[in-house]
Amino acid sequence: MRLYAATTNPGKLREFRQAVERFGRGRIELLPLPGLEDIPPCEETGATFEENAAQKALYYSRHAPGMVFTDDSGLEAAALNGEPGVRSARFAGEGAGDKANNRLLLERLVGKDDRRARFVCAVALAEGGRLHGRFRGEVEGWIVDAERGGNGFGYDPLFFYAPFGCTFGEASPERKLEVSHRARALEQMVRWLLPAEAAGA
Ligand code: IMP
Repeated sequence: MRLYAATTNPGKLREFRQAVERFGRGRIELLPLPGLEDIPPCEETGATFEENAAQKALYYSRHAPGMVFTDDSGLEAAALNGEPGVRSARFAGEGAGDKANNRLLLERLVGKDDRRARFVCAVALAEGGRLHGRFRGEVEGWIVDAERGGNGFGYDPLFFYAPFGCTFGEASPERKLEVSHRARALEQMVRWLLPAEAAGA
C-alpha cells in the first residue's frame, strides 16, 4: 500500500517514516507528496488540531495520486490555557523559527508554578477529496527552564519527559518515537489501514 505524506518539515517526515516502518511492518510505502512545493499552501484556519489536519488532508488529496495524510500538531501548556496550541509553529510570529518560539514560551512561563505541557498530534487521511479518518496522539510532560539537548525539533529541547528523565531534545530519535504524539497518532492510522494482526507493534 502506498501512502503520501503532505509535509515539507524534514523532522516530521523522518518521524512519519520511522513510525510507518515500525507499525506497518513493511506493508506501507510512505512517500512525500510529489510536487508539494508547487502546490499553493493550504490555509490553516481551524480552531483545533483535528480541524486543521482534516482541512489540509482534503485539500492535498485533490493534488495526490492516491491516499494522502497530513498532521497538525503542537504544544499545549497548562498554565497558558493550552497555548501555543494550533499556533505552535508561529507562536512568536509568522515565519518565526524554533529559537524564537522557545524563547517566547519560556518568557510566558516566567513566574508560573504549573509547568505541565503536552504535545498533541492529529492526523487526517484523505483520498480524492474524501476524508477517510482522523487519528489523535498525545504525550504529557513539562517545560524546563532552559533548552536541553540538540535532538528533535521545535519545542523538544524544552519538553521534559519524566519516564525518560530527560527532555525530548536529549532523547535519541528512536526513544522519542516510542512515545511521541506523532507516533501514537500514526499507530492509530496504521491500525485502521491494516488488518489488526499486521499492525501490532
Ligand atoms: P504544524 O506544522 O502546524 O503541525 O506545527 C507544528 C509545530 O508544533 C512545530 O513547528 C513545532 O513548533 C511544534 N511541534 C509539533 N510537534 C513537535 C515535536 O514533536 N517536537 C517539538 N515541537 C513540535
